[in-house]
Amino acid sequence: MSCPLWLKPVGDLVLGTERHQRLRVARTLMAAYVYLICMFILLRGAFLGMCKEEHAYALIAYMSVGVTIFYLLLRSGWSCRRKDKGLVIEQSLFAITAIVVAYGIVGQARGAVLLLLALVLSFGMFTLTPRQTLAIGGFAVVMLAVVMAVLAQMEPNRFPPQLEVIQFGLAVSVLPTMSLVAKQVSELRERLLKQRRELHEALARVQELATRDSLTNLINRRHMQELLDQELKREERSGSLFCVAIVDLDHFKRINDTYGHQVGDEVLCGFVREALVVLRNADVMARWGGEEFLILFPETRAEQALAGLERLRDHVVTQSVSESVPELRVTFSAGLAEHVHGQSVRQSLERADHALYDAKACGRNRVIQAPAPAGKRPDPSERGAA
Ligand code: GH3
Ligand code: MG
Ligand code: MG
Repeated sequence: MSCPLWLKPVGDLVLGTERHQRLRVARTLMAAYVYLICMFILLRGAFLGMCKEEHAYALIAYMSVGVTIFYLLLRSGWSCRRKDKGLVIEQSLFAITAIVVAYGIVGQARGAVLLLLALVLSFGMFTLTPRQTLAIGGFAVVMLAVVMAVLAQMEPNRFPPQLEVIQFGLAVSVLPTMSLVAKQVSELRERLLKQRRELHEALARVQELATRDSLTNLINRRHMQELLDQELKREERSGSLFCVAIVDLDHFKRINDTYGHQVGDEVLCGFVREALVVLRNADVMARWGGEEFLILFPETRAEQALAGLERLRDHVVTQSVSESVPELRVTFSAGLAEHVHGQSVRQSLERADHALYDAKACGRNRVIQAPAPAGKRPDPSERGAA
C-alpha cells in the first residue's frame, strides 16, 4: 500500500531522517500518546470529583512539559551525544514518578494505575541492559512502597493500610517478574548483537583472507587484477597513464636450497618490508606468485616508475632481509611497462613480462622498460602526463 506523497515530508519533519533516531523519536511519541490518554482520564476524574482539580492539573503540566522536553531532546539530536541515545532510563524514571504520583491522587481508581508500571518496563526491554532493567524495576517498587506508606500514614481513611499492603503485594509480585522477563529479553538482545558483531568480524576476516597473501600480507593476485581493471577504467576516463612492473627475486631457489624454505620465507617478507619503505603511498604492490611481485604505479609515466624501481633496487641490495641469516642480500630483476591507451591490462602485463625476461637474460639485478608496441608510441603532449 503506497502512502500519500505529503506523508513523507511530514514524517521527516516530526521524526527526523536518520533511521535509528526516527525509531527512538517514534517510541517517545508512542509514550506521549499514552500520556495523552492518561491526561484525558485525569481531567475526566477531576470533573467527576474522583480527584482534586489542582492535583490533576499539576500532574498534567508535569507530563506535558516532560514529554515535550524529551521529544525536543531526541528530535534535535542532542540525545545522540549520550550513550543511552533514546534517553530510555530518564524517560522510564520520569514515567514511574508520574505513575506513582497519579497513584496518590486518583483515589479509588489507583489500582488500575499500577498496570502502567508494567508498560514502562516493557518500553525499556529492547534498549536497556539487564542490569538497568532490574534497577528501573527496583526503583518502581521502592517509589511505590514510599508513596503507599506515606499515604497510609497520612490519610488512613482514603488509603486503608490493609488495602495498600494488598496493592503493594500485587505490585511487588508483578514488577519483579516483569523485570525478569525484561532482563531475559535484553540478554537475548545482547547475545544477538554479539553474534552479529562476531559475524561481521568473521566476514571482514574472510574478505581479508580472500584479498591478502598470508605470508607477506600484501594483496594477492586476484585482488590486484581488480585494482588493475579499476585503474584501466580510470585511465580511460582521465587519460592519465599508469605503469605496471613485474619484479622477480634473483636466484631465489638458491636461497631456499642453501638456507631452507624458512629463510626463503623470511627473505620474501624482508624484501616486501623494504620495498614498502621505498615505494610511494599511491603505488600498490601485490604478491603475483612465488617470488614474483607486481607493482602498479597509478597515474605515473614510465620515467617516474623507472626511477622508483631503480631506487628500490639500490635500497634492497643494501638491506638485511633475513633475521636468521642477517648477512644475506637479495637482488631483483624487473620488467616495466607503461600502459598504452586502447590496450588491455593483459597486453601491458605481457609486455612487462617480456621485459622481465630480458632483464633476467641480460644478467639479472636490473630493470628493463618494455618498448611501446609498434605503431602505438605514446605522445606525452597528446595524452595527459601525470
Ligand atoms: P631467477 O633468478 O631466474 O628468477 O631464479 P629463481 O631461482 O629465483 O627462480 P625459480 O623460478 O627457479 O625459483 C623460484 C623459487 O621460489 C622456486 C620456489 O620453490 C620458490 N618459492 C615460491 N614460493 C615460495 C614461498 O612462498 N616460500 C619460499 N620459501 N619459496 C618459494
Ligand atoms: Mg626468481
Ligand atoms: Mg619467478
